Parts: sequence; C-alpha cells; structure tokens
Amino acid sequence: MNNTQLVDYVVIGSGIAGLSAAKYLGAHGKTLVVTKGAIREGSTHYAQGGIAVALAPSDTPDYHLEDTLKAGDGLCDTDAVQVLVEEGPARVRELILMGAQFDRDGENYSYTQEAAHGQRRILHAGDATGREIEKTLGNAVLNQENVQFLPNTSVVRLLMDADRCVGCEVMSESGLAQIFAGAVILASGGCGQIYAYNTNPPVSTGDGVSLAYEVGARVQDMEFFQFHPTTLYLGDKKPISLFLISEAVRGEGAVLRNIYGERFMPQYHPDAELAPRDVVARAIFHQMQQTDTPHVFLDLSPCLGDVTQRFPTIAKRCLSAGIDIRRDFVPVAPAAHYAMGGVSTDLSGRTTPWSVCGW
Ligand SMILES: Cc1cc2nc3c(=O)[nH]c(=O)nc-3n(C[C@H](O)[C@H](O)[C@H](O)COP(=O)(O)OP(=O)(O)OC[C@H]3O[C@@H](n4cnc5c(N)ncnc54)[C@H](O)[C@@H]3O)c2cc1C
Repeated sequence: MNNTQLVDYVVIGSGIAGLSAAKYLGAHGKTLVVTKGAIREGSTHYAQGGIAVALAPSDTPDYHLEDTLKAGDGLCDTDAVQVLVEEGPARVRELILMGAQFDRDGENYSYTQEAAHGQRRILHAGDATGREIEKTLGNAVLNQENVQFLPNTSVVRLLMDADRCVGCEVMSESGLAQIFAGAVILASGGCGQIYAYNTNPPVSTGDGVSLAYEVGARVQDMEFFQFHPTTLYLGDKKPISLFLISEAVRGEGAVLRNIYGERFMPQYHPDAELAPRDVVARAIFHQMQQTDTPHVFLDLSPCLGDVTQRFPTIAKRCLSAGIDIRRDFVPVAPAAHYAMGGVSTDLSGRTTPWSVCGW
C-alpha cells in the first residue's frame, strides 16, 4: 500500500454498518473500506436470533415504537426510535432485494417471538441471521468497482484539519500509512471485549469510540451496557468470546431453571423468561448468588418441533461440549453483550461538532 492515499470516502469497519455505507457511497465516489481483521470478522457475522422489524401483516411501526419505548424504561431518545421503527422495514426489504434469504412459513416470512416485543416480530435466517446479512451485503459490495477493501489494517488515529476529520492513519504489516478522504465513516462496532466475560468477537475493542474521543468528538452513555442473560457456561474453560444462546430460544418456549431444577423467572416478572434482558440477566445473577453456583440452566424441552432444526448452530456448538439440547439442560450465565453508548451523533449520523460536517 502507498504511504499516502486520497479517496472520496473512507469507511472504518466491515460489519453491517460499514458494508451498508460502502454499498451506497460506492455509487458516488471512490470508497475505501479499512477493516482490522478479515472482512467478515465482526459482531455482524455472529448475530443469531434475527432482526426486530415491523413487517408482519399484523404489525405496524407504531406498535414497534410502543414496545421499544416500554422496554427502554423511559430512557430512549424517542426521535431516534421513530427513525428505527419507520425506516427499518424499507432497509430490510432492500436486503431481501439484494438476495438475503430469511426463513419462511409457506408463502409468508416466519417471525420469532423475543423478549419485550408485544408480538412475533423477529425476522431470521435460522439461528445465523448475521451470517446471511454479512454474506448478502458482502457480495453486493465486492461487485462494486468503486469500492476497495483494506483488510488486516487497523485505524490508529483520525487526521484532523482544525475541527474537521479529513482522513485516518492506518497500521498493517506494511507499516503506517495515511488515507485522506472527503468524508470518514466510523463503523467500527462495539467494545464488549473490555469485559472479561462477553459475547463479542476479538475485534470489538471500542477503537472507534477512543479514536473519536481523542480528537474531541463527544461520546455518550458509555455506562449503558447490556448483559445478555444466556451464554453457554463451560466452567473454567473461558474462551475469548463466550458462545451466545439466542433469546429466540426462550422466544420459542425454553425456560430457565436453577441448579435444583426449579423454574424461577415467574417470581421476578409477569413476562417470566420473556421479560426485558436486563430483568432476566439480574434474576439469573440473583439465583446464581442464592445457590452459590456460576450458572443456571436453560431447558428447551417445552419448545415445539425439532430444536436442532430450528437452532442448528446452537445445537452443533452445544453438542461439541457434550450437551444435547433435545434432552439435556444447557448451563448458561449472563455476559456483556451490547454497548448502547458510543460516539454522539445526530439523526443523520453526524458526530460533533455538527457544524463542520459539511453536509
Ligand atoms: C454473538 C452475538 C449475537 C448477536 N445477535 C444479534 C441478533 O440476533 N439481532 C440483532 O439485532 N443484533 C445481534 N447482535 C448485535 C449485532 O450483531 C450488532 O449490533 C451489529 O452487528 C453491529 O454491526 P456493526 O457494523 O456496527 O459492527 P461489527 O459488525 O462489529 O463491525 C465492526 C467492524 O469494525 C472493524 N474495526 C474495529 N476497530 C477497527 C479499527 N481500529 N480499524 C479498522 N477496523 C476496525 C471490525 O474489524 C469490524 O469489521 C449480536 C451480537 C453478537 C456479538
């Protein structure tokens, strides 16, 4: 790679955010996607349960808004939620037009129930929805002449001209280089790896937040971190990323039991296993403390149908640890999962100071 490059747009990250940006920017100018590891490596590739979107005939963006605000406990930015629920269906239809294959039930798409949603709303591709999206977007972008990729390359510094970001410094096996661009899109994902127990891939180390903070951009709500209630607990053999047991499993009927085999969620919340994630994670933690054990169990026996067909990735991973999800209780414990804070933006994704973004 040259020590200095000039492009119209540089995109940092190749997950759903980076690939989506690159797909549209490629139509407007020379776009370079810089990504720390292999192109597919990021949280997107590992997303399991599916996408919450108001697409089912019985659903509307207003219902989705209502459920989201309720689960957000009064802390949501209503304007941002409005954008999410109203634009979500169109963005998902675009993925479908690009070739994404989501599960169907006959003619119609099949939607799973997940916690805090008032109806079945989760569109999915088996239990590997992220892989399908990453593949679809990846194919769409790799075919574009105007988009180039720089894998195994880390952005280590944002380059500034006064208050305006004009590019980035990158590091790879060939050393340091500088990329100058008309616009820089930060799509570098979350920071779960700052926690000892987390579900995130090794690349999720919060680089984007730190890069932006170092050059004076505002960051917010970093203390809001979602702990997923159910990751596979395998004793002392702690991997870098814990394997997630998707909430969709509880959506399909699985129940939580303590080490004595007792179901406990109904005593914590009227929605039991389908209470919001923070409630379920805290209840599990409470049970772990009460019984002095590092996990509880997930019991899939109430699920209808063949769970190995509906959740093939989970079934395979559990089997590799000697657990048959059709008949064994699965040991699970909460772990850090989702960074809800990050770099402050307006509803168009512009970081501070808004005045110098030039759009
Ligand atoms: C196990 C798991 C299951 C999940 N399941 C679901 C689900 O069912 N439904 C749902 O809606 N969400 C789910 N999520 C969350 C969802 O996957 C993420 O919100 C989403 O994929 C984030 O996309 P992203 O493009 O922002 O980040 P990512 O997909 O993480 O991409 C970030 C990119 O930035 C790159 N990067 C990072 N730092 C640098 C740097 N310094 N220089 C260059 N590149 C860099 C990374 O290499 C990566 O390519 C799940 C997450 C995990 C971990």
